[in-house]
Amino acid sequence: MSDCVFCKILAGEIPSKKAYEDDQVLAFYDIEPKAPVHILVIPKQHLSGAAAVTAENSAVVAHIFEVIARLTKELGLADYRVVTNNGPDAGQTVPHLHFHILAGGKLGGMA
Ligand code: AMP
Repeated sequence: MSDCVFCKILAGEIPSKKAYEDDQVLAFYDIEPKAPVHILVIPKQHLSGAAAVTAENSAVVAHIFEVIARLTKELGLADYRVVTNNGPDAGQTVPHLHFHILAGGKLGGMA
């Protein structure tokens, strides 16, 4: 989508610090980290959020969790939190499906 920040990162129009990339997904460091390590993992296909996941496109979500497991191991992160926000009331500010990996220290409690 032309006005999507993460699509612009995927297109190389906005710079990012890449952590991992393959044909389906990109992982990059969050520009405003909320934990000592804060990485975002996004599908290359534009999906607006968790509510846009369907039987037809859900394979990429499974792949993202495989990438998260592998990447965190490579980075030596045994303990981490994975978060996705869906919709503005839940804190979603970028309407392109993304999973936050938060790690690198004792994380605060969360519902
Ligand atoms: P959310 O609020 O769940 O939609 O998460 C969006 C995340 O994207 C926030 O943590 C932002 O700090 C992050 N973000 C926004 N723009 C960029 C960017 N250009 N590069 C890296 N992270 C970004």
